[in-house]
Amino acid sequence: MENIYWYPEVGFDCNTYLIADEILTVIDPGTSIEKLLRSMVRDGFKIEDVKLIINTHSHPDHCAANQELKNLSKAKIAMHKAEAKHLEVSREMAKYFALDPLNFKIDFYLEDEVKLGKTVFKVIHTPGHSPGSICLYEEKLKVLICGDLIFDKSVGRTDFPGGSSTQLKNSIENVSKMDVEFLLPGHMKPLIGKEKVKNNFEFIKKYYFDLL
Ligand SMILES: [Zn+2]
Ligand SMILES: [Zn+2]
Repeated sequence: MENIYWYPEVGFDCNTYLIADEILTVIDPGTSIEKLLRSMVRDGFKIEDVKLIINTHSHPDHCAANQELKNLSKAKIAMHKAEAKHLEVSREMAKYFALDPLNFKIDFYLEDEVKLGKTVFKVIHTPGHSPGSICLYEEKLKVLICGDLIFDKSVGRTDFPGGSSTQLKNSIENVSKMDVEFLLPGHMKPLIGKEKVKNNFEFIKKYYFDLL
């Protein structure tokens, strides 16, 4: 899109989104600073200009590269308050997966909305995959960045510590009512087109809700 860039996951990693606005923002840096460096340079951005890092949640595949990115850019790190309390568990997960330790600190908590310039994201608390998982919704662009809540014909895992299938179901129910044209998940491909997004929600409700 005009000011949203998708950098696909590479190996044990996640989709990273760059929001090019007054506050240059990286959503979920993932595990590879090299991926981000390569992609940003290609698109004409400088890594040192990144001002904000947002994590949809604290799982290591989404934030293992936080500190490296912060070192290179001095960007601030933000996530939901409920996820901050969960960070200790995510640190253990990073050890388990033999990833870089999650030694970053959170600079501020995300609440109702986050203004990056003309792009304004509503912050929607969507627990289930983890206690402080969030979705980011841009009303004008009809963009929903949904982390690990839902994917193309799939849903986020709830078997990690702090996961809850009841909460996941409620969170999906909640965001499925929104007017979304671009669904940008933490893994797999983005879904583009209202019809596709709507069909995906219907598929999930039909085939997953009984299981959750
Ligand atoms: Zn996750
Ligand atoms: Zn993930």
